[in-house]
Amino acid sequence: MATILSDRLGGTIPSTMSDLPLSIRSIFEHAMKSHPRKQIISRDGAQLLRFTYAEFGKRVGKLANALKKLGVKPGDRVASFAWNGHRHLELYYAVPMIGAVLHTVNIRLFPDQIAFVLDHAEDDIVFYDGSLVKLVKAAHALAPGSGRRFVQMGASPEPFEGALDYETLVADEPETYDWPEIDERAGAILCYTSATTGDPKGTLFSHRSTFIHALASGLADSLGMMESDRVLPIVPMFHVNAWGTPFLCLLVGADFIMPMERLDPAGVIELCESEKVTLSAGVPTVWLAVRDALRAQNKTLPHLKRLVIGGSAMPKSLMDDLNALGIDAIHAWGMTEMSPIGTVSHNISELANDPAKQHEERYKQGRFCPIVQWRLVDESGHDVPPDGRSRGELLVRGFAVTAKYYKNEEATATAFEPDGWFHTGDVCTVDEYGYLEIVDRVKDFIKSGGEWISSVEVENILMGHPSLKEACVFGIPHPKWQERPVAAVVAREGHEVDEDAVRAWMADKLAKWQTPDRVLFVDAIPRTGVGKFLKRDLRETYKGLFEE
Ligand code: ADP
Repeated sequence: MATILSDRLGGTIPSTMSDLPLSIRSIFEHAMKSHPRKQIISRDGAQLLRFTYAEFGKRVGKLANALKKLGVKPGDRVASFAWNGHRHLELYYAVPMIGAVLHTVNIRLFPDQIAFVLDHAEDDIVFYDGSLVKLVKAAHALAPGSGRRFVQMGASPEPFEGALDYETLVADEPETYDWPEIDERAGAILCYTSATTGDPKGTLFSHRSTFIHALASGLADSLGMMESDRVLPIVPMFHVNAWGTPFLCLLVGADFIMPMERLDPAGVIELCESEKVTLSAGVPTVWLAVRDALRAQNKTLPHLKRLVIGGSAMPKSLMDDLNALGIDAIHAWGMTEMSPIGTVSHNISELANDPAKQHEERYKQGRFCPIVQWRLVDESGHDVPPDGRSRGELLVRGFAVTAKYYKNEEATATAFEPDGWFHTGDVCTVDEYGYLEIVDRVKDFIKSGGEWISSVEVENILMGHPSLKEACVFGIPHPKWQERPVAAVVAREGHEVDEDAVRAWMADKLAKWQTPDRVLFVDAIPRTGVGKFLKRDLRETYKGLFEE
């Protein structure tokens, strides 16, 4: 970075401005000074624990001292294996602020993948929630490491021999710590992708990128978070930093509410009501279930004003239904490699006089955050126009976008060469108003007789069927057409629906060649750790469907 800047200085003169490093510590210290009485609330078993920021800060100081005693040095990797809870948040600040790296392990990976990431990251210590002890033991058996230590947070259903206890470790430690000054480019938090394709790949966020992402995601046309908000991140802190909310909340001084493992609709609704949550964020599946529960109980959540939904496409029907319940459902798109926020869908002044058009635009994934630079390119790498029709693969780079994968030259070469831009693998359009629409993942497109079918488009239509709870569309090899689309669907409880009824629903909404050849009723659609459809598994299960 420094060399690049000085190379480019040319005839300019140095500014008078400070070079203070952008850091997680600066977010922390601002929060402690400016918002000491704001709240951090966390489920802990059956109870809700409440801390002021000031009390939280003291616990962070104690943890930092305990980490030092455990021998954690700058650059060491410390793993967390935990739900959204107050101890996890303490790790989020203490570990990077002493110069070490917090590796937030995705607890929903399969044990062999967890073993892979623990080894790949070379984690020296693993902090785990007691309730997750079985998974931790299973992963540890597969990756025993050399001298890896474990620290348990909260009670566990069974003992883990040799594990230390978090509260005992921090109990007698001082509440203050002499925080070191850290290079803003140093690694702070390590996060692996959820392995929709291949082995998990690591992105190591820096202090600088974390700070910049927090600033940018707070903008009114991004998450628009304010001091007066009460924020409930349903998106997990074990996957892309809960979309950066643990840093953004403290930056703006919002109250931060953590649900631990209670991500079921009843648990989410209960917290939204008792804590008067104003802003929440999460993947569509969680909100589909919450919407159904609200409807079944004939309830609304009057305090909940804004809901940011992303991670996979928000069905149009979900946006409309949430809007009808008085909640502004905001579509967003991002990726682990982007810290993660890329686009957020809000109204724009240019469409103020055209509400119908504006509404259509809001279904899309949204407009780019100012810290993201982007291009849409065709298969030969040429830029395609942002006309809302031309499709291309989205390439990005930016201030909070990774420039390579952590210790993985092969994956880096595939995703970043030849131009240094990150090839997202998403095929998109961008329209004249700047709204991005994800047409499909490159690998999920269905190639049928020379035509390309977007699985997402077909899913959207199926999801609008009143008797279907979920729909997933994927391509299966076909002797005549190369591939044909197949839909796996889950019926709503208590609804009678069959293949013919679903076909009739699609008949006037899709061209014949786009319509799935088969509609398969299943109990559940296989998902990745973070709740995305595992089309890879479905393609494998049904690969012989059209064999002669
Ligand atoms: P992985 O699933 O590989 O770990 P991420 O969790 O970082 O990766 O998810 C990134 C991908 O998720 C994006 O490239 C995109 O395909 C998909 N995605 C995220 N948000 C949306 C959205 N709002 N609509 C459609 N797809 C989305």
